[in-house]
Amino acid sequence: MARYIGSVCRLCRREGEKLYLKAERCDTPKCAIDRRSYAPGQHGQGRTKFSEYGVQLREKQKVRRLYGVLENQFRTYFKKADQKKGVTGENLLQNLEMRMDNVIYRMGLAGSRNAARQLVRHRFFTVNGKKVNVPSYAVRKGDVIGLVASKKDKLPIKTGLEAMKGKTLPNWVTFDFDKNEGTVLELSSREDITLPINEQLIVELYSR
Ligand code: SF4
Repeated sequence: MARYIGSVCRLCRREGEKLYLKAERCDTPKCAIDRRSYAPGQHGQGRTKFSEYGVQLREKQKVRRLYGVLENQFRTYFKKADQKKGVTGENLLQNLEMRMDNVIYRMGLAGSRNAARQLVRHRFFTVNGKKVNVPSYAVRKGDVIGLVASKKDKLPIKTGLEAMKGKTLPNWVTFDFDKNEGTVLELSSREDITLPINEQLIVELYSR
């Protein structure tokens, strides 16, 4: 499965805002956005004014990078959102939020979506008792995500479990430390996404 393997800080610098792709480092003075808040590359400190198309494109790229999705897959998410009842932009964000790697991240079991993706690929979790190793797996309301017993003592998840103690989870997911399982109580809603995203710009871009 294809994925971006370059520097993720570069992606934040390109979008001009923190996308929190690197867990703990993002809140330290080492964050590249704090140190060099201009776009990467030779002309990064040059032109800053975008055309209407440019603004729409940047918004789409930002959301795509935030969720770690490549262009073709993102387009498929958009098509599905467009065919669903309701507001297309909100449907799109909901579909992205319900990805397995994002749900693991939202439950606090990993510091970033990238780290969550890695855990999913390495078969750390089950959904309703069945092992799932597909980061894009679409989790549904009522699904129970369990931590595989043999993986409980592995370092990445131990660190994640320690770090999540005391954290406030979004109100659409829970995690029970004693049972080592979490439940998706609701589908995520637009209000649960706190990063500034203007999804309407993405709808306009793909409607051109
Ligand atoms: Fe983005 Fe985090 Fe890198 Fe900062 S440290 S540039 S927020 S990925």
